[in-house]
Amino acid sequence: MRQTKIIFFILFLPILSCNKKVVNTVPSPTTLTDTSHPGNPYYSRTDTTVLHVSDAEWKKVLPDSIYQVARNKETEEAFTGKFWNATGIGTYYCAACGNALFRSDSKFASTCGWPSFFETIRPISVEYKDDHSYNMERTEVLCGRCGGHLGHLFDDGPPPTGKRYCMNSIVLDFEPDKK
Ligand SMILES: [Zn+2]
Repeated sequence: MRQTKIIFFILFLPILSCNKKVVNTVPSPTTLTDTSHPGNPYYSRTDTTVLHVSDAEWKKVLPDSIYQVARNKETEEAFTGKFWNATGIGTYYCAACGNALFRSDSKFASTCGWPSFFETIRPISVEYKDDHSYNMERTEVLCGRCGGHLGHLFDDGPPPTGKRYCMNSIVLDFEPDKK
């Protein structure tokens, strides 16, 4: 028997400049329709009042996994979040405050490992901030109601906007449309 070649390939997942900092934020096993946020008096899907809540207060009312991304700007590990490849029809909300952020029809299949959208529900759904961390020039995306960190915005998205909102699943809630 003669074996000619045995080649082992180690495949590294595509690095698409989404984020550099990585932290394990394994989402809790909540259902997609879980809208209960016990202990978080700021969560509302109807009240659009802009919130001015201190990080110390958020730390008291948010699960630590959400707090670390929303307030400490951590990033969940690629391909680990609950929504990176989700295809359900419905609406995505901020998991910290309930602000409506994205419709599922603006979500597209991205290879970066994080849920990606080409537009927000409303222009004021989010805010933007220049982010110079990690020697990169990026645009940070924050919730327009609570100011929580959601992810980053890139210019390599699909038509019609050409934008890619690269989000962390852990700071999103999803509510399927009622049939
Ligand atoms: Zn929010």
